[in-house]
Amino acid sequence: MTTEQAAPAINAWEVAQRQFDLAAERLNLDPGLRAVLREPRRALTVHFPVHMDDGTVEVFTGYRVQHNLGRGPAKGGIRYHQDVSLDEVKALAMWMTWKCAVVGIPYGGGKGGVVVDPKKLSRKELEALTRRFTTEISVLIGPERDIPAPDVNTNAQVMAWMMDTYSMHQGYTVPGVVTGKPISLGGSEGRNEATARGCVFTVVDAARHLGMDLATATVVVQGFGNAGSIAAKLMQDEGSTVIGVSDTGGAITKADGLDIDRVVAWKKEHGTVVGFPGSTTISNAELLELPCDVLIPAALENQITARNAERIRARIIAEAANGPTTPDADDILYKKGVFLIPDILANAGGVTVSYFEWVQDLNRDHWSEAVVNAKLKEIMDRSFAEVIEMARREEVNMRTAAYLVAVQRVADATRMRGLYP
Ligand code: NAD
Repeated sequence: MTTEQAAPAINAWEVAQRQFDLAAERLNLDPGLRAVLREPRRALTVHFPVHMDDGTVEVFTGYRVQHNLGRGPAKGGIRYHQDVSLDEVKALAMWMTWKCAVVGIPYGGGKGGVVVDPKKLSRKELEALTRRFTTEISVLIGPERDIPAPDVNTNAQVMAWMMDTYSMHQGYTVPGVVTGKPISLGGSEGRNEATARGCVFTVVDAARHLGMDLATATVVVQGFGNAGSIAAKLMQDEGSTVIGVSDTGGAITKADGLDIDRVVAWKKEHGTVVGFPGSTTISNAELLELPCDVLIPAALENQITARNAERIRARIIAEAANGPTTPDADDILYKKGVFLIPDILANAGGVTVSYFEWVQDLNRDHWSEAVVNAKLKEIMDRSFAEVIEMARREEVNMRTAAYLVAVQRVADATRMRGLYP
């Protein structure tokens, strides 16, 4: 854990509610509707025991939150991290509601997490934890009700265990209960790369809008996991020069560009990007402040705050991570003229291809990667165009514009369904 993260805690749920309030105010939302959308529909806390390898029993805490189900079943990832809290999961669930709405896919928002550092568990312990957690939240999840996916420190293998556990309880195989599964179990082509690919599509759109040539652009990526490492690689494929990357071990920079395939191989062998031959080690704070054309935060929340926003020297920020920028920092960046592509748009490629996976599972179908990527591009480009048009019309920043599009859609659906009973 870097020292930057130990700084005064910013509560992600307060940030999420503040962002929503800004949009609700501007949309002049009815107070009743506003009160409904401001809180999660359901929040489940579970404490569950796991047999550890040394014979002891450890009790873990986990959460599954469903924010809004107005437009369809809940959808959202499962995070394994020592800093997971109910407030964080609530924020991430609310962001999922807006994200699904902004790209127009028929889901509500959900999210889950377990308070654990999975790096300290053996594979056997990780599987036992996953299976027991799945069992505990099975009162909520299901292919028509709530569909988990990977997030920080969870992957296709964890999704396979979740799918198997749920299927064992049902007595038959239910591929559609989770997405982000291995291809061999009904996973979709292109899902593993989808968050990063969708993010890069939005960067291409933003660059076109700004008249920036990505072939001569420099890129910095914070976080080198699923979203970050693949985004770095795809930006390199666009011809850009990736001059800095980081992970929990630290940050590295190389002015004439990092060879991302080699950095991936280095991290696989050494567990961190730090020490990559030819690179200079810098702090995570310095990484964010490197002069560059495109900055892609792809780690955790609250990385760009009022403390460092003034020193950010990127022209485009594309939020592959959820919640990396606080509302105060948003204002500073907007005044500085930084073009920010907000998380609910920039990282919506993941949930979009999760939706494709779910559709394929329900239809017992399998699409080619070319079909998946083309459909993803169409949705990301259309959504980007709708958000930028809203920003232009309402003279607001891209985050507020994305919220105006999303909150309006969710509010319309909720209003049309009416209040039961
Ligand atoms: P991951 O576990 O694969 O990778 C996370 C990376 O961030 C790791 O490299 C880790 O070392 C690094 N990291 C953590 N804290 C850091 C810090 N303080 N400084 C620098 N690096 C740090 O997770 P992921 O799936 O890539 O998720 C990353 C972000 O993207 C999260 O905000 C997640 O919610 C968001 N996201 C992921 C998906 C998805 O499909 N996986 C979809 C949408 C959004």
